[in-house]
Amino acid sequence: MKTFPMFLQMAGRRVVIAGGGEQAAQKARLILKTEANVTILAPQLDDELASLVAEGRVTHMTGPITPALFAETALVFVATGCPGADMALHTLAKAGGATVNVVDQPGLCDAITPSIVDRDPVVVAIGTEGTAPVLARQIKTKLEEVLEPRLGDLANLAGRLRNAAAARLAPRARRDLWRWVFNDAPRRVFASGAERDAAKMIKAAIETGEFGTRQEGSVSLVGAGPGAKDLITLRGVQRLQEADVIYYDRLLEPEILELARRDAERVYVGKAPGCHSWPQEKISQTLMAAAKRGQRVVRLKCGDPGIFGRSNEEMRPLKEAGVAVEVVPGVTAACAAAAAMGESLTERDEINTLTFSTGHLKNGYVVPEAVRDLKPGGCVALYMGVGAAADISDQLARSHRGIPLEVQIVANAQRPGQVTATCGVADIAATLAAHQITDTAILFIRWPLSVASAGVSTAPAPVALLA
Ligand code: SAH
Repeated sequence: MKTFPMFLQMAGRRVVIAGGGEQAAQKARLILKTEANVTILAPQLDDELASLVAEGRVTHMTGPITPALFAETALVFVATGCPGADMALHTLAKAGGATVNVVDQPGLCDAITPSIVDRDPVVVAIGTEGTAPVLARQIKTKLEEVLEPRLGDLANLAGRLRNAAAARLAPRARRDLWRWVFNDAPRRVFASGAERDAAKMIKAAIETGEFGTRQEGSVSLVGAGPGAKDLITLRGVQRLQEADVIYYDRLLEPEILELARRDAERVYVGKAPGCHSWPQEKISQTLMAAAKRGQRVVRLKCGDPGIFGRSNEEMRPLKEAGVAVEVVPGVTAACAAAAAMGESLTERDEINTLTFSTGHLKNGYVVPEAVRDLKPGGCVALYMGVGAAADISDQLARSHRGIPLEVQIVANAQRPGQVTATCGVADIAATLAAHQITDTAILFIRWPLSVASAGVSTAPAPVALLA
């Protein structure tokens, strides 16, 4: 080890940043996370630094620079962006006895700034002694996934309760308590946003000395997104890594399951070709039994669990039975499909109403009312609509005759086999056939306001007269 990681006390100490541009602003942003008193030495400041001065968050000095300015500092950053000036400032700072970091000049650095994962007060610093900054960033990304955003607040809560725990529990029991807090239900409950419940749990455990004896099971309904492994949320990954058992659906890419713990049980509850899927009731009963055994259960669904995912049917019995249920949202197929086309779902002065609808109901394919009633400025994002394609064209020929609506099709958005196509309303079935799209597609049917105002027609013709 050529460098040694340490955490420096910063509260109330002086930090000097020499430079007034973007490099200096970057360092100021970093150091302002601490409680240090920051002084910027520069003849001129960029807009960001100038506003920090105006807010009173940093002090600005323009006068002549002498070694004395760098005395009594915790750290000095030299960040002018000009190698000659940096070198001269480095010499002055060293003459003042400072610990110096010169941006992009490792040879002149007494101290190197690490990659930081910040869950204040929990802070992880990653360094590679300048050998592999890309690796440091990769490690940072991995840790960002593993350490939930609220972890620092939980650590703060633990800090506030330390004295109470020390007063009531013996050292061994205390260690067990904190292990339970950071490994088990309190951490999970806290991460899900129920901070007060988590605090109550911990306080009760300190009070009674009882915790973790009966592990509470829970069910997280997790949206996996459209398929790509990096389009699930960090919270979703967290739940997968905590899960004892995962019940997953059709339309999930296997790589998403790789995010789970290796020893987690994986159960497929979707429809295999030629077979029936598990009935909703059986899924609910199975989830319930697992949670009651004390397992942490993930029910993984494609897209967002709350959009055409029958989540309520599955979760209602669990909630009625008092099982802890949490929903983790996901990127729904319509958003994934629009992004796949590089487009926006809504557009100012063009599309101001967006409807999510389905082309498949309990009894089979249907043309939803949202299609029939499409108005200027409207877009219907149609899920499960492939089987209804020909009927949709027939309907639109009757209800929107002569209006050049825009139809866009995205199959397998953000997963292998992605296909995008546009066509006219009469050609939906033919376009699907030409691209061999039989399943897993979103159809967008749009009536932009500019098309409506081009004077083609302004309102759908009454269905009854034309049908
Ligand atoms: N809960 C899911 C939707 C489930 S219904 C979500 O929020 O996305 C299943 C339908 O969603 C499919 O028939 C298809 O219309 C659509 N779908 C799901 N994943 C898709 C993807 N990757 N690309 C295009 N459509 C998709």
